[in-house]
Amino acid sequence: MVLKIYNTLSRKKESFKPIKEGEVNLFVCGPTVYNSSHLGHAKTYVQFDVIVKFLRFKGYKVKYIQNITNIDDKIILKAKEEGLGEEGWEIVSERYEKSYLEDMKKLNVNSVNKYAKATNYMGQIISQVNCLIKMGYAYQISDGWYFDLSKCKDYGKLAKRTSQKADDAVSRIDENKEKKNKGDFCLWKFSKKGEPKWETKIGEGRPGWHIEDTAITEKEFGPQYDVHGGGIDLIFPHHEAEIAQMESISGKKPLVKYWLHTGFLEIDKGKMSKSKGNFYGLKEIMEKGYNPLHLRYLFLLGHYKKPLNFSWESLNSARNAYEKLKNNLSKIKSSKSKINQKNVDSVKKQFIQILDDDFNVPRALSYLWDILREEKLNDSEKFKIITEFDKVFDLDLSLDKEEIQEVPSEILKLAKERDELRKNKKFKESDEIRDKINKQGFVVEDSEAGSVIKKRGGN
Ligand code: AMP
Repeated sequence: MVLKIYNTLSRKKESFKPIKEGEVNLFVCGPTVYNSSHLGHAKTYVQFDVIVKFLRFKGYKVKYIQNITNIDDKIILKAKEEGLGEEGWEIVSERYEKSYLEDMKKLNVNSVNKYAKATNYMGQIISQVNCLIKMGYAYQISDGWYFDLSKCKDYGKLAKRTSQKADDAVSRIDENKEKKNKGDFCLWKFSKKGEPKWETKIGEGRPGWHIEDTAITEKEFGPQYDVHGGGIDLIFPHHEAEIAQMESISGKKPLVKYWLHTGFLEIDKGKMSKSKGNFYGLKEIMEKGYNPLHLRYLFLLGHYKKPLNFSWESLNSARNAYEKLKNNLSKIKSSKSKINQKNVDSVKKQFIQILDDDFNVPRALSYLWDILREEKLNDSEKFKIITEFDKVFDLDLSLDKEEIQEVPSEILKLAKERDELRKNKKFKESDEIRDKINKQGFVVEDSEAGSVIKKRGGN
């Protein structure tokens, strides 16, 4: 069966045919790094991680790029609030990029080939803005260069909107009364005093939000590529603007063959977001004794396109199911029964068929439980199959039980104290705390992503 993907562009499930057979160029919008990431970000990136892992499981060679928006109004504002100097935006963006990558690592989000920072693509950004000016798509007003939507006849094809409707967009529209059309967006922002700037012939400034992505993808993939993803809030105006920019420059359509959008992680029926203040971060989840993979399991219980409600009850149920699944597997791990490859292959076929239906991960996850109950399969076959399928889920199912969720709060407190001491280079004191933790039956492992605590004897 061929993979079918729901394409936001056509609002239909379509058979997946990449531009170049067997290869997939895939781009997902990354975070704007002005604050710590929350669980809503984690949902989107975990779900794309599984999508990419499934494509690789099917044999596609996937080049997966995610941008990091490391220059933006919100970053500059944060640096000002913290009283950092002119270079403050770099301090802020590096700090939150690091913490974002640490979160992703803990969640086993490791399929991205390249995290592309916007400021590493300044040459390409400036060249795209220049090109739009020369072609007559851009005009200058007091605070920068803007894209003239009246020049783009098929604007709105992704979101099914028009440039006139652009004023009620759900996120980030550039405001300036001098704009020709309501929805016109900024390509190049002139920098105010004390703001970061790049000196160019079109004025000292910095890039608008939308141009960084087309600059990155043109440089990495060329003017057209296979898959573009992001949260549902990015359809408009962000992805629509990307189409307008790149298709105007190259004259080649479509910029992207398949557009995929994730539903929100919600809390009390509203989007989890920084601005609403209704968010949790991964750190809080771990401080309450959950393993990040409990959260990963929770995200895989829902289809990527659908919203998912976050509650402590749902996280608890995910934790219970996850631990039960791991326990069941560890019981059959050492089985020596003979494997009949035909049995394995037929189950694998079924698994691929499930996921071929627009990445039906929740159904595939429940199929694991069916396999465990299946009387026609012996324990070795079950173990082999589930371990192989875990290349897609990446839930560390065949590893011995992770002990992190059992870590009592007093141990977590000690670990936090130890982290602080290490930060201040007080290694003698931090070693003493490590010994205390050890004596209580736990070990601390220091990784790039911070310290991880496990029960002694666990993997
Ligand atoms: P931002 O840093 O706000 O640009 O968001 C980065 C990515 O995370 C985008 O693809 C957003 O759509 C996605 N995102 C933000 N909040 C949520 C949420 N509550 N649920 C799912 N995805 C989200």
